[in-house]
Amino acid sequence: MEGRIEKLGPPRSPPPERGVASGLACDLVGLSREELGDFFAGLGESPYRAKQLWHWIYHRGVRKFSEMTTFNKKLQGLLSESCRVTRPEIRRLQESADGTRKWLLAFSDGNEAEIVHIPEVDRGTLCISSQVGCTLTCQFCHTGTQKLVRNLTPGEIVGQMLIARDHFNEWPSPKERRHISNVVFMGMGEPLYNYENVAQAIRILMDGEGIALSKRRITLSTTGVVPMIQRAGNELDVQLAISLHATTDALRDKLVPLNRKYPLAELIKACRTYPRAANSRRITFEYVMLKGINDSITDAKQLVKLIQGIPAKVNLIPFNTWPGAPYECSMPETISAFADVVNEAGYASPVRIPRGQDILAACGQLKSASERRARIPAKTTVKGN
Ligand code: SF4
Repeated sequence: MEGRIEKLGPPRSPPPERGVASGLACDLVGLSREELGDFFAGLGESPYRAKQLWHWIYHRGVRKFSEMTTFNKKLQGLLSESCRVTRPEIRRLQESADGTRKWLLAFSDGNEAEIVHIPEVDRGTLCISSQVGCTLTCQFCHTGTQKLVRNLTPGEIVGQMLIARDHFNEWPSPKERRHISNVVFMGMGEPLYNYENVAQAIRILMDGEGIALSKRRITLSTTGVVPMIQRAGNELDVQLAISLHATTDALRDKLVPLNRKYPLAELIKACRTYPRAANSRRITFEYVMLKGINDSITDAKQLVKLIQGIPAKVNLIPFNTWPGAPYECSMPETISAFADVVNEAGYASPVRIPRGQDILAACGQLKSASERRARIPAKTTVKGN
């Protein structure tokens, strides 16, 4: 099913000011600086408290208000009674022979999503999820076999980072030599179908007084939600990756069904006008190598022609299989010949080394057991494209 999703979220915790008034605990993770400022103002406190709280949550990684020593005892008590600083629950942590780690996380309503950490010599990349399940049905992707359950909130998205930071004991937020130096939105879900929440989470990740990730180290990966690409570029200015995988509409309609809504010509046009795309900030085109499907020399030449003039690199991804997968991975010599054509045309075309295959943590292999419930909350709408 393709679809546009609006307000497809979990039961939200009450807004902070109502949480305090009603005695219901509200979660402060994921709130913007402005929301936190309003919250403290509602308590009769200085907006400066928001800055202090930000420091405790996102720079120090502190969860207990009693440890936030810049708050007086009265404020600590009030916050402890009415608010929370939460993390998703870790249901399972698996470690691959190659050092890749995969977490299965559960959120407050029990729904689950997976995230992956990939250590490399010069960096550590955290692959995070934006939705539980996915509304799209990319044919090569295991997540695509799991129906969309719901969007993740900003707090649940940021919470994935906090969990990984806890794991590596990476508090206070280090300036250099980080285990998690890069974040890619390549986990479960299409981030541009949950744009508002993803954008708020990205702003929190980038904030210099907290987690402080550079915009150059955050990659938003999309299958091609064309109307949102320009907006994401203007508002967030992060790195862009496109799940391309085919060079003709006929094939892409099949592999990435969203192409029927936003065909290649529109997608490529959006890439050409992506704000600040330059040789120093190239767009990444992801291209999964499927045996006998999209891996011929003709495909490679078409690919080069398609992206001509765009500052870009092409990531070639050997297909990672999963139970019931309808495709096979291209032969190594086929991938190599394909890469040569792209390289000779002036585009870097690294072949991604599969990581974490033994724990189903590689690209396109993530999936959780969460299922869409029969009854959808009244506010939820799922519109067909
Ligand atoms: S590739 Fe991304 S958008 Fe496509 S089905 Fe998988 S998770 Fe969804």
